[in-house]
Amino acid sequence: MDYGTISKIEKARRYAEEPERITFNHLTIEFKGDNSSYNISLDENGWHCTCPGFHSHHICPHIMSLERLFSKMLKRDPLPYAHGQNVVSDVEKAARYAHETDRIRFITFDVVFKGNNSDHHTVLGHDGWDCDCSDFKRSAYCSHTIALERILKNMLPQLAGGS
Ligand SMILES: [Zn+2]
Ligand SMILES: [Zn+2]
Repeated sequence: MDYGTISKIEKARRYAEEPERITFNHLTIEFKGDNSSYNISLDENGWHCTCPGFHSHHICPHIMSLERLFSKMLKRDPLPYAHGQNVVSDVEKAARYAHETDRIRFITFDVVFKGNNSDHHTVLGHDGWDCDCSDFKRSAYCSHTIALERILKNMLPQLAGGS
């Protein structure tokens, strides 16, 4: 590995320990629940999940588990508990799900990544990574994409040609 690559990996290692540098703007996730899989999204209209609990209460244990796992990268207030929601059961489920990260598969997201010098826009799309930094333009990966890979690990899709 050349010096540039080593310094990128060093930087990514530091970034991965500082997840508060990252803020999710949009994300889509496939979430394996106890009985079936659901699609979760976060966008300018807020959270959405295709599960029946969310349909009734606009909150569900799937989203609650993501709030636990990624609070530093979401930077938004947790969804309020709803009238008629089984809070005890949902809190218990969310705590369990947050330890079972193989249930979670990111499909797409875009984040703002606060680098040492400036903010960058890093995207996971259906075709893989994109970032607006100069390193990424040169080599199709950068300290931002490496840091996100370190943080999200098995929750990322298996990208063709990915590292
Ligand atoms: Zn749900
Ligand atoms: Zn980058």
